[in-house]
Amino acid sequence: TEPRRPVIAGNWKMNCLLDAGLDLAQAVEDGAGGRDCEIVICPPHVLLHPVNVALEDNLLGLGAQDCHVAEKGAHTGDVSAAMLADAGCGYVIVGHSERRVDHGESDDLVRAKAESVFAQELVAIICIGETEAERDDGRTEAVLAKQLDGSVPAGSNAANTIIAYEPVWAIGTGKTPTADEAQNVHSFIRRYLAEKLGDDIASGMRILYGGSMKPSNAAELLAQADIDGGLIGGASLNAGDFHGIVECLP
Ligand code: PEP
Repeated sequence: TEPRRPVIAGNWKMNCLLDAGLDLAQAVEDGAGGRDCEIVICPPHVLLHPVNVALEDNLLGLGAQDCHVAEKGAHTGDVSAAMLADAGCGYVIVGHSERRVDHGESDDLVRAKAESVFAQELVAIICIGETEAERDDGRTEAVLAKQLDGSVPAGSNAANTIIAYEPVWAIGTGKTPTADEAQNVHSFIRRYLAEKLGDDIASGMRILYGGSMKPSNAAELLAQADIDGGLIGGASLNAGDFHGIVECLP
């Protein structure tokens, strides 16, 4: 099987006004290019098109943080995957824990969003992860299995889907699992995907770790056999930190 190409994706969340966003995107692009990996930035929706216009070197992938399930229609305030493709996106994050919690998104909805991403021939970055209470109860694998069953479409494959394992308790907290713990969970996810989608697809699918990744802890995490990159929140808002993580790829 082909080696999995690493992905380092920055989730800017609801940060950056236009000037700051253009500066950050440019700084990320200026530092990119030296490595065989995909570097993706996911600015807020309103910055996608201007960032896409401003970046000329084609070294970065552009991703959105969410989409609606429908292609168009009476959905005030929502943005479709078709619009995101039109704005220049190649990727869409779906099912981030902040969407699952703040907007009550269910696994079924996340799956439908991923399907709408596939329909535009974009890549869905599907997020899963257990809460601290679920972890303390020893339910991590059961929770992830349910999320994978519910959120990952039957049509997922290694080209259209990236899984992001983001333990909720590690997001924005400065806490991370040990590299061993993270590897064990990633290995579980890959085995579960193999049962669901088949060995070939599972062995080619990128599984990213997300949650308080930064230059000082990234090397150990990214060295693990089943960790194929990172989804980075806070540290993606500083180009030096973000590239510091890219530099940690083995
Ligand atoms: C995220 O929310 O996707 C994330 C990983 O955030 P942070 O890196 O800030 O923990």
